[in-house]
Amino acid sequence: MIPPEFDYAAPASVDEAISLLAQHGDDAKLLAGGHSLLPLMKLRFAAPALLVDLKNVGLSGISNGDGLTIGAGTRHVEIQSGDYGLLTEATKLIADQQVRNRGTIGGSIAHGDPASDPPAVVLAMDGTINVKGPNGERQIAAADMFQDYLTTALADDEVVISIDIPPYDGYGHAYLKFTRRAEDWAMVGVAALVKVEGGAFSDVRVGLTHMGTTPLRATAVEQALNGQPATADAIAVAAQAAAEGTDPPADLNATADYKRHLAQVMVRRALTQAAGL
Ligand code: FAD
Repeated sequence: MIPPEFDYAAPASVDEAISLLAQHGDDAKLLAGGHSLLPLMKLRFAAPALLVDLKNVGLSGISNGDGLTIGAGTRHVEIQSGDYGLLTEATKLIADQQVRNRGTIGGSIAHGDPASDPPAVVLAMDGTINVKGPNGERQIAAADMFQDYLTTALADDEVVISIDIPPYDGYGHAYLKFTRRAEDWAMVGVAALVKVEGGAFSDVRVGLTHMGTTPLRATAVEQALNGQPATADAIAVAAQAAAEGTDPPADLNATADYKRHLAQVMVRRALTQAAGL
């Protein structure tokens, strides 16, 4: 449980961090809360020669205007103790308070673990990831960010600066997570956002945690419900499509088939709760 030796730098600006990344290539890794990277290093699944600590670059903070802009260095605890709708609801369910005190939303998004909770929420909310590299800034839509297991659209020399979340005024929301033990990673997690107008669903968004190698949208459910009466029956029918297009990993917790069944049940419950039915 002791990581291999590494050098350590704590630059004072994002630009300095980027030039260290550019200089050292894939020998260097950014360090935020360390709650995903350090366990991997201790298990020797990762062995960066240089850790570039972001603690002095000032990327934390949340601005709440026309939607949210959340600094990448914002720790889970800051989101958990605010009033940021679905994001706050999901963040409260991340691990335990010690992890939430150190872990950051930027680290979670950059790490790209399909079992992490924030990625499915940011995906369901059509968030935008603002990143900076040697050639300047660019925006990555959440739909393009998560490419494979622990693989994102981020280049080795890019830093996540912030995450934009559009406003969802008038939406109901729910984040449900199925775990065998309290405070565990999700076997299946569901992020649901719904807007009901004139008794019918006008917008339905469903994100799935740990149902494949990336966070996913339950698009078949979303399409089946949009325009339908906002009833428990309509949700129950649509939720049967929750596992369409998913590929959940079989593991010590459950078979893939069991997780597909679980997704149907959890999507039904999350949508029912989000719609206030
Ligand atoms: P780090 O570990 O510091 O970094 C993770 C990766 O992101 C590294 O590759 C790093 O180089 C990169 N990175 C970090 N910041 C940036 C940036 N600004 N730009 C570009 N790259 C960056 N998470 C959940 O969602 N749900 C859970 O139930 C859960 N359970 C956990 C249980 C335990 C026991 C532990 C230790 C962790 C758990 N986590 C869980 C993970 C936790 O939320 C992490 O904090 C989070 O995934 C990563 O954030 P971090 O700030 O710690 O990132």
